[in-house]
Amino acid sequence: MEKYTNIETALIHAGSQIDERTGAVNTPIYQTSTYKQDGLGKMRGYEYSRTGNPTREVLESLIAELEGGYAGFAFGSGMAATTAVLSLFKSGDTILIGSNVYGGTFRVLDKVFDHFDIRYRIADTSDTEAFENAITDDVKAVMLESPANPLMTVTDIAAIAKAAKKHGLTVIVDNTFLTPYLQRPLELGADIVVHSATKYLGGHSDVVAGLAVCSDKDTAEKLAFIQNSTGGVLGPFDSFLLIKGIKTLGVRMDRHVENALKVAERLKENKAVKSIYYPGLKDDPGYETNKKQAKAPGAMISFELDERHDINVFFESLKLVCLAESLGGVESLVCHPATMTHAAIPKEIREKVGITDGLIRLSVGIENVSDIIEDIEQAIKAAEK
Ligand SMILES: *Cc1c(COP(=O)(O)O)cnc(C)c1O
Repeated sequence: MEKYTNIETALIHAGSQIDERTGAVNTPIYQTSTYKQDGLGKMRGYEYSRTGNPTREVLESLIAELEGGYAGFAFGSGMAATTAVLSLFKSGDTILIGSNVYGGTFRVLDKVFDHFDIRYRIADTSDTEAFENAITDDVKAVMLESPANPLMTVTDIAAIAKAAKKHGLTVIVDNTFLTPYLQRPLELGADIVVHSATKYLGGHSDVVAGLAVCSDKDTAEKLAFIQNSTGGVLGPFDSFLLIKGIKTLGVRMDRHVENALKVAERLKENKAVKSIYYPGLKDDPGYETNKKQAKAPGAMISFELDERHDINVFFESLKLVCLAESLGGVESLVCHPATMTHAAIPKEIREKVGITDGLIRLSVGIENVSDIIEDIEQAIKAAEK
């Protein structure tokens, strides 16, 4: 695999995207489940598409190179990628999870891995000392996100990795919100990175996909075995869509961030906004740490309207910004964490961690930023009681 020094170039060329046989500039979609064998045991490099597919392989080597890892694996969703990574552990093992991990990560541990006695405990990874104090003999790994949803809590990944290594833990980082264009957790000491590629990597809200990258050969062999055994692989067409999406990740992220910074500044000035969470604002508690470990703060913003506003009217008054689950696409999306992404959490607990009924999460798209701001401001006005 050729190595690229600059990520903007790697996004477009890494993973040997040019087809060896035909010279096709775009990776062909090898829409096949099986491959001709020239005799017993005489394979041409592929035998069955769960085990290996040329289109998926290009994507897998592309993400491995972008994250600076040893090997990459593509799955049918972010949750399938997380499930494969969690399948590295055994009954009796405990995984520490950050207090604000993605709801689905919490759910799969709480309701599925629970059947196999793989346990979890919640730890505040934004406080390295508290995290280290939570490590007991049964803890084998930590899984975290930075910034973490929906309050955009930043974790010092290098500090956590250093503390975790002292105790021999595997460090898993869900890098969905920043992508390798803005943050590379393996370079900060993590062992495994997972992605919901459904979000920024795909970037066009047209594919559900997951990726995992690990830093060493031993884990790569185990993950390849789990991927082939449990079978949650990404299909050739969806692999193609992701390769295509990743080519423009750099220009998209630059614009996402540029827009998000402007939207956040404007919201902060708006008297109707009671609080705002975005690590790109200088007075955000995560600003310095995020700046140290990432190229930019990403484009996810949460904010809270004061009690003089009706949140239902706000959502119904938006004309451009779309109320929907998911994030990271070219179009701006909003969601209501209390009733959507975090609905499973009891209200008292939600309120305690800041996920109030007035909290709004915004995925800032790459439209003209004045249009985004104008739409949000008119909806805030309309929502005045
Ligand atoms: C969406 C998301 C996931 C789950 O990914 P799917 O592709 O929906 O399965 C995991 N982590 C984060 C941070 C996400 O936003």
